[in-house]
Amino acid sequence: MSESIGGNGPGMKLHTKILLGLLVGALLGIAGNLTLGGDDPLVAGVNHYLANPLGQVFLRMLFMIVIPLVFASIALGVAGLGDVRRVGRVGGKAIAYFFVSTALAATLGLLLVDTLKPGEALDPSVREELLASYSSDASTRVEAAANTNFGVQTLINVVTRNPVKSAADLDMLGIIFFGIMFGAALTLIPGERAKPMIGVLQALEDVVIKIVEIAMRIAPFGVAGLIYGVTSRFGFELLVPLGAYVLVVLGALLLHVVVTLSAIVRFYLGISPVTYFGRLRSALVTAFSTSSSSATLPTALATAEQNLGVPPHIAGFVLPLGSTMCMNGTALFEGVTVIFLCQVFGADLSVGQTVVVMLMSVITAIGAAGVPGGSIPLLVGILAMFGVPGEGIAIILGIDRILDMSRTTVNVAGDITATAVVAKWEKSWDASMLPATYGLDHLESADVVPRH
Ligand code: ASP
Repeated sequence: MSESIGGNGPGMKLHTKILLGLLVGALLGIAGNLTLGGDDPLVAGVNHYLANPLGQVFLRMLFMIVIPLVFASIALGVAGLGDVRRVGRVGGKAIAYFFVSTALAATLGLLLVDTLKPGEALDPSVREELLASYSSDASTRVEAAANTNFGVQTLINVVTRNPVKSAADLDMLGIIFFGIMFGAALTLIPGERAKPMIGVLQALEDVVIKIVEIAMRIAPFGVAGLIYGVTSRFGFELLVPLGAYVLVVLGALLLHVVVTLSAIVRFYLGISPVTYFGRLRSALVTAFSTSSSSATLPTALATAEQNLGVPPHIAGFVLPLGSTMCMNGTALFEGVTVIFLCQVFGADLSVGQTVVVMLMSVITAIGAAGVPGGSIPLLVGILAMFGVPGEGIAIILGIDRILDMSRTTVNVAGDITATAVVAKWEKSWDASMLPATYGLDHLESADVVPRH
């Protein structure tokens, strides 16, 4: 691939433009909400006719390519690993890291929520009010939760019966499984027969990544539109009663990045966290504005390969897997939310039960879809285990978007870090391979330079 994402070329850099978009959209939204109100025809009209269309076009450009990208990168990644044993080894390391880092995140959240007890600060009258105003939305989520049977069937469903249907349904695990089988089979047939198919997959991957680059050029506008939609409707009203809870979630997410992930980056990867996260900017801003790990996958993949220099056969295999299975931020959020709602409803949990909450948060985070609000139905499932009415979720639905944006950013930071950790663990990459120059802006040529 010819260009990298959001880097250090001359002129106004793409990531600066995206950040500017984020800022302008957020400020306009907040200003509109505070002066005229979210329902004012002007504020709502700008959202309906301008901000929302811009945001949706950007999001759709990203979703459009997720399936071909996941399929091509997984199949090529597996084929590139050469033999099936190596696939098992890299996959095993990836899953072990996903589990450990997610458990650390959830534990951090639980420690914080157990110590600060934000649930005990919530006024009972506010609780009733929130329950009443979000209960219909909550009951739809509770119904959805009843349909998410997480168990043996979930594992069986990974083996897709129909990859075309999986693609249409955005069933990532099904597509990942099909991609792994496809790539593994490619290594088992004679080399000269596999070659044309590998060529086609490489071309497909180059094409979709080119589309990512085009999408990223409209990102500053798309991001502005998405964030305007959130801030203009959302305002600050709900932040006050739920402030303590919101602060615990955001504080724990921040701590996970600043302490846990930064320690891994500094001590295992040997890179300064400031340099490292600086190179991740475009992917992090995309995650924040889209609230979707899946929609961010194309940008994350380009970031890992070009801004960090992680080899495509590792990044192409580990990142798609991570974007659906490794959700540090989501597990942390789920743990904090379950305990918060238990505190609100007066359910006292023992230490053993808290450990169960941690494990359930990790497991359901693996099962959650990388889409906005993807973890909510699973969260309802955990709440039921502890006797909290599913409708309790109503208390937090109104502010979930802002938490979703933040936890998705942490999910993506965790996914890219997982990829770098596995690449180093496999001795395929180290800090000396960080590219000296990177940036979507410094190469404005329209040609696709083959990357393989
Ligand atoms: N929106 C999150 C993601 O895509 C999933 C969730 O926690 O709802 O990573």
